[in-house]
Amino acid sequence: MNFSKQRESILNYLRNTKEHPTAERIYADLKPSLPNLSLATVYRNLGRLCETGTVVRLSTGDKTDHFDADTSDHQHFVCTSCGTVSDMFFELPQEILNQNLSDNFVANYYKLYVYGICKDCSEKQMRNA
Ligand code: ZN
Ligand code: MN
Repeated sequence: MNFSKQRESILNYLRNTKEHPTAERIYADLKPSLPNLSLATVYRNLGRLCETGTVVRLSTGDKTDHFDADTSDHQHFVCTSCGTVSDMFFELPQEILNQNLSDNFVANYYKLYVYGICKDCSEKQMRNA
């Protein structure tokens, strides 16, 4: 088992999920099929994949980074109750950006995190209310 094989497994795992997992989640899910895998190796490989732009690191503010193999232009919704990260696809009108920029500033892209409560958590809260 070499390092590139492990990196490939991590990348395949990320490409087959919409859940924006943490390094710990990836490690826990891959460990059974890759017995030699260590958490440090997962972190190191994720670091490399992010450096090369193959994977995107999402720092949502909950101490643990999440990872996304979908590098297309999109935004994220973060549940402040369970930490789940899900995709959002929308575009801010250029005039909103321009209105909020000083003269001669040019906006090229933005990365937004929208915070709230996910469907599962809001249903749980309603059941317990
Ligand atoms: Zn939630
Ligand atoms: Mn995403």
